[in-house]
Amino acid sequence: MARRAAEYRAQGRRIIDLTLGEPDFAPPVHAALAAQEAAARPLGYTPANGIPELRRAARHALERDRALSYTDAEVAVGCGAKQVIFNALFATLGPGDEVIIPAPYWASYPDMVRLCGAVPVIVPCSAESGFRLAPDALEAAMTERTRWVVLNAPGNPSGATYSHDTLAGLAEVLRRHPSAMILSDEIYAHIRYGEGEYISIAQVAPDLRERILLVDGVSKAYAMTGWRVGWGFGPSELVRRITAVQSQNCTQTATVSQIAAVAALEGSQEVLAERCETYRRRRDAALAILRQSRHLETVEPDGAFYLFPRLATSDDLAAADTFLEAGCATVPGSAFGAPGHLRLSFATDIATLEEGCRIIVATLDGIPA
Ligand code: PMP
Repeated sequence: MARRAAEYRAQGRRIIDLTLGEPDFAPPVHAALAAQEAAARPLGYTPANGIPELRRAARHALERDRALSYTDAEVAVGCGAKQVIFNALFATLGPGDEVIIPAPYWASYPDMVRLCGAVPVIVPCSAESGFRLAPDALEAAMTERTRWVVLNAPGNPSGATYSHDTLAGLAEVLRRHPSAMILSDEIYAHIRYGEGEYISIAQVAPDLRERILLVDGVSKAYAMTGWRVGWGFGPSELVRRITAVQSQNCTQTATVSQIAAVAALEGSQEVLAERCETYRRRRDAALAILRQSRHLETVEPDGAFYLFPRLATSDDLAAADTFLEAGCATVPGSAFGAPGHLRLSFATDIATLEEGCRIIVATLDGIPA
């Protein structure tokens, strides 16, 4: 949809693009300055699992933000959270292995699993359940072939987070299936609108620590998607295998980016709260417009920067086409395993966002925007 939106724009048509999956901010100034200074020095190859300064900074940030401590041998850096996840799956999956993926999901998970020759097992989670995986649904999906269970909170595209109790319920199920690992994708942990601290399954179930890979990075929190820096915390044997894959496919992520990531993690964190506030204002403005339409039902997201309204029709592809023709690009829910929904990104300025939402509502309600 983003590509089609760009094509229409090239033809001179005005298209509001609500497909973006990345922050619209610049990186923190201190990160950019650290990169600038480092770029003038000779920067050679560095360790495949990340420069020691970054592994240390990532560990300290996790201690600070989520009160979890890991050793240096339990963290691996890659070219974004994406590569760390891929490396972990590639290092552990074989033909016929299963990976449980709650839907709606980030579209890359099932494709990565298939690339590794394994089978994605999709567990639909309804809007009524707040798009959260329920412990009994997890239990029903587990088999002796389950190698990984994916948890992503705040979720892309749902924005849903998990309560302590739900995580405890999921942990209870996972204890009964000791051969499954848990991939906790926490890349949006800093973009949340609720009160209180982020809760990771690694905090709720410390006894499962040896089975959890906790993934994070600078892309979303620090608006540094293009810098390609992410990391994973997990048992040292898994980290060793992730590093072996990393080492043979791209050596390491760019050293200059890693140096910028250290500065982002160690510098002032004020920008995080400021940006959350900006996202919250945008979310509320968009919700206020979308909720005017009786053809849409929109759950208020707890985090991330997406709205995921349910349409009155199950044909989200046709609906997204209609909205594009009317001047607003969105992503159909089918791309995330949830037909009948749309993903709207609010990683864009409020005026653009409001205009896009008005186009959608007006199109649905048959009145001019
Ligand atoms: N996980 C989720 C849920 C995401 O939405 C994304 C980015 N779209 C990633 C991981 C990948 O992030 P990175 O840029 O660190 O590879």
